[in-house]
Parts: sequence; C-alpha cells; structure tokens
Amino acid sequence: MNRRKFLAFLGSASVVTAAGVTTTATPAKAGVHTFPYYPESYGVLHDTTRCVGCRRCEQACNIVNKLPKPEKPFTDTSVCETRRRTSAKQWTVVNKYTMNGKPVFRKLQCFHCNDPACASACFAKCFTKQPDGSVQYDGTQCVGCRYCMIACPFYAPGFQYDEAWDPLVQKCTFCKPRLDKNELPGCVEACPMEALTFGRRTDLIKVARARIASNPEKYLDYIYGEHDAGGTAWMVLAPANPKGPKVPPENPALAGPELKQLGLDTHLGNQPMGELTYGALGAVPMIVSFWPVLFGGAWAMTKRREAMYKAEQEKTVREAREDVTAAVDAVVRKIQETEGDGAADRARKAMAEALKARDDAAAKHGEDA
Ligand code: SF4
Ligand code: SF4
Ligand code: SF4
Repeated sequence: MNRRKFLAFLGSASVVTAAGVTTTATPAKAGVHTFPYYPESYGVLHDTTRCVGCRRCEQACNIVNKLPKPEKPFTDTSVCETRRRTSAKQWTVVNKYTMNGKPVFRKLQCFHCNDPACASACFAKCFTKQPDGSVQYDGTQCVGCRYCMIACPFYAPGFQYDEAWDPLVQKCTFCKPRLDKNELPGCVEACPMEALTFGRRTDLIKVARARIASNPEKYLDYIYGEHDAGGTAWMVLAPANPKGPKVPPENPALAGPELKQLGLDTHLGNQPMGELTYGALGAVPMIVSFWPVLFGGAWAMTKRREAMYKAEQEKTVREAREDVTAAVDAVVRKIQETEGDGAADRARKAMAEALKARDDAAAKHGEDA
C-alpha cells in the first residue's frame, strides 16, 4: 500500500463507518465475530512422540514457499535447542523441549484456528477462515498495524521488518496452493517419521483418540487444539508422564503441567479467542470507533522506512506525522460531536498514549521512531 492508497483508506467508508460505531451500535456486540465451522475441513495432527527434530518439515516449507535461505543449513539440528519463534522468513520451526527429563520436539506454525483471533483483530479484513480449514492472509488491504500479531495466541504471524516497501505479515498458509491441487502440505509430505498426519479434522480427532486408547502409557490423554482457543485445525499429541497423574477426560486441567513443558499455552480456555478480543474491545467503545485511524497511523509511522535518502526521509516523516495528526483530529471531532468534550479529550489522550507505546515498540525493532 502506498501513501495515496493509505490516504484513500483513511477516507474510505469503512473508516467513516467505524468512526460512527459509538453512536449506532451496542458496544458489547460491536465486533463479536463468529466464524462458520466447516465440518469437512482439514487439519494436521502433530504427534510429538514420533518427531525426531530432523527439520525436514522446515526445509520443505522453505522450498515450497520460496522463503529466504536460512542463516544455518537445515541439516544443523542444534538450532532446535533454542526456543525459536516463527517469523516472516520461517513459517514453521521445530524446537526441542524437555518433558519429564526427556527431549521432545514440537513443530510450531499457525494453528489455523477455528475462530481466528487474527481475523477478528484485523479491521482491514486481511484474514479469512476457508472451508478447507486454512486461515488465509491477503495483504492487499494490509496497513501494517500488526494488530493480528498482538491478537494471535500462538505468536504465529511474522512481519517483514526488512522490507522497505510495503512490508507485509507472513505466516503458514497450510500450503493452500498445494491443497487446491490435492497435494499434501509440503511439511507433511517431507516428514520421514509420519509425525504429521493430514486429514479431515474430525477424522484426525478420531485418529488421535485411537492412538491414545491403544497406548495410554505413551500418550497424554489430551488432544491440544481440539478445544483450546475454540479449537484449531492443527492439533498436537504429547507424550505421557508415566509417573504423573492420569488425565481423565473430565479433568483435562491435569494435562496442564505436561503441556506447559512442551511450550503449549494451557490458559487459553475453550472460548474462541476472537470473542475475547472483541469482547475486550467492546468494553471500550471509543477504541472500537477509532482503532482504524490509530493503527492506520501506526502504519504511517512504519512507512517512514520507505524513505531511502535523508531529504526524502525527512519529507516522509513530516507527511506521516501530518497524516496521523489529521486523522486523529477527524476522529476526535466526530467523537466530540456525538459524545461531547469529555469523551473527545479522553480519546485524544488515549490515542496519543497508544501511538507513543507503538513508537516505543517500533524503536525496539530498530524501526525509525
Ligand atoms: S520432519 Fe517430521 S520428524 Fe522431522 S522435525 Fe519435522 S515433524 Fe519432526
Ligand atoms: S494461530 Fe494465530 S495467525 Fe494462525 S489462525 Fe490462529 S490466531 Fe490466526
Ligand atoms: S503447511 Fe505449508 S506453509 Fe504451513 S508449515 Fe507446512 S509447509 Fe509451511
């Protein structure tokens, strides 16, 4: 998105509508999202008891998605010792954990949530839940606010910090182009241990249950992702702790300490994350009303990186600041008209604080602040 596109976006109907939300909508319901559940959708089951940390899945992902060459070759498995996160350049990583004194490898990528928080958080509607189970990102309208990254409970999306022009969010696509051709996801096809099983999500849950039932000494009686965060297309099976308490299905909380050792967040609950995101925002109606402008402004700040020469940079910085100031003024005026001086003052203060916080965060990432 270039500057003109950004200005057009700020002036677009969606922003104007959003600015008017406080006057017309019931705040608590302003953004509650529900996503259709597709019973025939696909998923992947990662059986960590089979995973040997060979990184073939990482390599396949890198090749099929034409991602940049990694710093260390994929044959170097020592990198698994570090708790790596996915990024714009690495859509999947395999990390080594220690569970009850034994090494266990787990593959990280987008979980393709049933109710994706990234999609709920993105006002530009860049994310969609597809009938095949994947969550797709289309960067055409992306303003680079990275609110999806904040919202994602699995820290899956990465950002192209190195891109001077139009940096985008990047994440696992579930190899959608391959799915569309009836091919397996690259990582699944490459796994030599059959640690990754592709199939209909409903079938995968049956497969997981059967494995647990036939080998209760080996498996923790818990399918991570079946219900966590409202359910995810990608799910995880973990090893059992022979000395630990058996996890009865009616008390899955007992699986918590085991899953935590595997780096899995056990506090997400079964409520869709999108509902939580919007619920929190709905409690602060003014935020719902001005967040497009706020994060549009954040985008403008990011775009200062576009300036390649000093003089041009100074001009771009000045223009970006003018854009943000004008946008903030417009929203404050709107709030003043509809809700009075007090609300307008609070909105201006909140926006100034949020933009400062965003600037501080950007500075940490080495962006121009
Ligand atoms: S290719 Fe399979 S066994 Fe190897 S690290 Fe990936 S998931 Fe584990
Ligand atoms: S894991 Fe994160 S990025 Fe992937 S669908 Fe869920 S919320 Fe979105
Ligand atoms: S499904 Fe495709 S994009 Fe996602 S981690 Fe596997 S290879 Fe990478």
